[in-house]
This record gives sequence, structure tokens and C-alpha cells, in this order.
Amino acid sequence: MLDSQILIFMEPKTYFVRTYGCQMNELDTEIMAGQLEKRGLTASPTEEEADILIFNTCSIRDLAERKVMGKLGRMGRGQKKNTVIGVTGCMAMAKKDSLFRKFPHLDFVIGTNNITDLGAVIDEVLYTKKQIFKTDDRFEENLDYLVAKRNDKVKAHVSIIRGCDKYCTYCVVPYTRGEEVSRPPESIVEECRRLVDQGYKELTLVGQNVNSYGKDKPEWNCLFHDLLYQLDKIPGMERIRFMTSHPIDITVQLMEAIRDLPSLCEFVHFPIQAGSNRILKKMHRIYTKEQYFEKVALLRQLVPNVTLGTDIIVGFPTETEEEFQETLEVMRQIRYSVAFLYAYSQRKGTPAMRWKDDVPDEVKQDRLQRILDLQDEIESEDRLALLGKTFEVLVERQNKDGKLLRGSTRCWRKVIFEGSESLIGTLQQVHFHSCAHQTFIGELLPAKKLNVI
Ligand code: SF4
Repeated sequence: MLDSQILIFMEPKTYFVRTYGCQMNELDTEIMAGQLEKRGLTASPTEEEADILIFNTCSIRDLAERKVMGKLGRMGRGQKKNTVIGVTGCMAMAKKDSLFRKFPHLDFVIGTNNITDLGAVIDEVLYTKKQIFKTDDRFEENLDYLVAKRNDKVKAHVSIIRGCDKYCTYCVVPYTRGEEVSRPPESIVEECRRLVDQGYKELTLVGQNVNSYGKDKPEWNCLFHDLLYQLDKIPGMERIRFMTSHPIDITVQLMEAIRDLPSLCEFVHFPIQAGSNRILKKMHRIYTKEQYFEKVALLRQLVPNVTLGTDIIVGFPTETEEEFQETLEVMRQIRYSVAFLYAYSQRKGTPAMRWKDDVPDEVKQDRLQRILDLQDEIESEDRLALLGKTFEVLVERQNKDGKLLRGSTRCWRKVIFEGSESLIGTLQQVHFHSCAHQTFIGELLPAKKLNVI
């Protein structure tokens, strides 16, 4: 909205937040929704009907950014006149007030480090009728996490660290989310304790790089594995996960915690990104393939039933076919249970922008397809090997069809099975008998058969 426009906002009653990107953004959306509900607003069923409409954005991939830009452009023409429209998240940090020039109907821009200021910014918009932006470079640990409005009643995300100091050459996160700021352990323990008391069965600790937790605050004497030991002691804690990790910060103490702590799930997101040492160096990943393999071997020795996930970028500048083949070989050797696979795209503001994006698009797409096919093959083989076995499953919700239940194992395998809705939020034993695409189909075992594996 332009300053010169004569427009009077009604006191807003409803809100809608559209979320793009990672689990950190999902959690930030829950916190913003909680803040808005605290001031008396209710969730609107649609974007069109909302009095406050927020786009919580992501800058990691070009596609995510283009989607928001397209949407904002269309909003200018279609939205009802008194809607307050805001952009938050990584794109807000990257583009700051330049967004106002492109989208004159936009009312506020709030960066990733200023979620606490949402209410004050909305007030300022309402009462000054001006476009307001707040994009501090550093996160101040004054956020009220407990206000978060959670829609899921079984699983919850808990923020433990914000920002990233690793500066991988392709990644905007250190510039959009700033340097690492760990959250005090007492605050995390308190939130987790409350969530467990409310009946949550699975808590995922989130951050751009959770396993460097506490390194920025040596005076706390509490590194990531220390925090995990504290959380595991909370009475009633069933499952803890964490997402995401940098291989360099996966320590022996963390591996031992996965081995020893009953609540800590045996799944580790262990993103290698590329299989060639030259490309890893160019990406500034600060480990070699050999060091990565050593860590994986040690983890598998300590936790034999662990499963691994990864992220991989193909077509990074100057990547040759031989180097891509090295990445395929890593996939064959490690056999990840989950892999997020991408073709490289340039991100403004990153060091990699200095290099020519010289792998042609058709080559990138071809490599992406080949690596997707390989991962499909590996996952299909692994799925067959799990048939006929029984696993502990957290019953999460009803399946989309409304007839079956859906849940996941400690190692993040998804399964659907018949059962009563009353089982949602409980841990059950499920026998895996077949699969459809990536989902297992199972049979709930009655209590008397609980020990049959
Ligand atoms: S570790 Fe690298 S890829 Fe991950 S958020 Fe930090 S800079 Fe980005």
C-alpha cells in the first residue's frame, strides 16, 4: 500500500500464513500464528478472506522465490482492499525494502530475526498507514516460543539454534538467517517438558545446523549431545529427532547418545552434497569424502540399526561427468533411506554466484534424473528387505483416504494400516507386509502379540 493512498484499515480479525521452505519456517509460522491469536485474531480458511495475509518465504531455491514473487504480483490485483499483506522469512532478509518497490501493495517486511516484532509492526502499519520493514542482522534470543500455535497434536518442532556459520558457497542461509545463536538449554527443556505434558510423543529439534548447538556459548558448557541427555531425562519423553546436521559437527559423543538414549531415534540426516573432493572443496563443505565415510562407518559400528538421509546437489559449477559418477558411487555405498536431490541453481548473494553456472541445464536435468532413479532403486530394494518385519510405529493421524491410520517408525519409515482413530498419538507394533510406492502397508498387532518380531 502506498503512503499516498487514502485507505483506512479496519481492526483485523482473521489471518492466514502461507509457508514456504524448511521446518524452521514451519515453526516460525506456528509462532506467528500464536502471536496473532494472542491478540484475538482467528485463522482464516482462505488467503482471500484473511484480514492479515503473511507469506513466510524461503530463498534456498530459485523456484520457491519465484512462486512467492508470482503470488505477490497477482495479489496486487486480486486481494480485498483492506487486507494487510506482509512478507517474512528468508526472502524478506534477502530483498528487504526493495520488495516495496516491486509490490506497492505490500504493507510490511519482517526478517527472520524479527518475528518477535510482528505485533508491533502490524500496529505501526495499521496506525501510520505506512510500509514498515524490520530486518535486523542478528537474532536476539527474546522470542516467546511457548506461544506457538501447533496444529499437530502428536509431533512438534522445537527450535534450538538459529542461523549458520558454515558459509557453504552455494547457500544463502548465513546471509538470510545470520550467524549461529543457540537458545538457552533451560528454555528448550522447559518447552519440551510442557509439550510432553500436553501429550506430544515426538519432538524434532530444529535448526540450520543443530549439531553445532552450544558452540557459540562455551560458558553454558552444554553442547548438542549434553542437551540431548537433558531432554531424554524428561519423564514421558518418547521420541526425539533432530534436523538438520553438518557432517563436520557429528561427533563421537553424539553417536554415543544415539546409541544410549532410549528416546533418541536412530535416524541421522547426514548431508554429503557431492561425492567428489574437488567439488566438496569448491562448495566449502570442510570435509573430504574419506572423512565423511569414516564418520558413517563409526556411526554404523556404534548404532548398527541407524538409517541415514542426505542432501545432494548435482551440476555444481565445473562438475564433470566423472565427478558426478563419484556422487553416484557414494549413493551406492552408503545407501541412504531418504535423499533430497537437487540440480544446482545460482542464488544471488552467495559466493558461488561469482562462478559461471557452466553445467548446461539439460546435463543437470539428466544427472538429476539418473540420481533420482538410483535412489528409487536403492529405496525399493531396502523396502523389500523390511517386509515381514515388525516395528514400533507412532500413530500420527488418519490417512488421506479417511479409512486407514498413518504412522512412522523410529527410522522414519512411513506405514499405513487399519485401526481405530483412538490409537492416534500412541505407539504400536505394526507388521509390515507389503508396500505401495514409498509407503509400507502394515497390520496392527494385537497387544498379546506385542513381542513378536
Ligand atoms: S551448513 Fe551450509 S548448506 Fe547448511 S545452512 Fe549452513 S551454509 Fe547452508
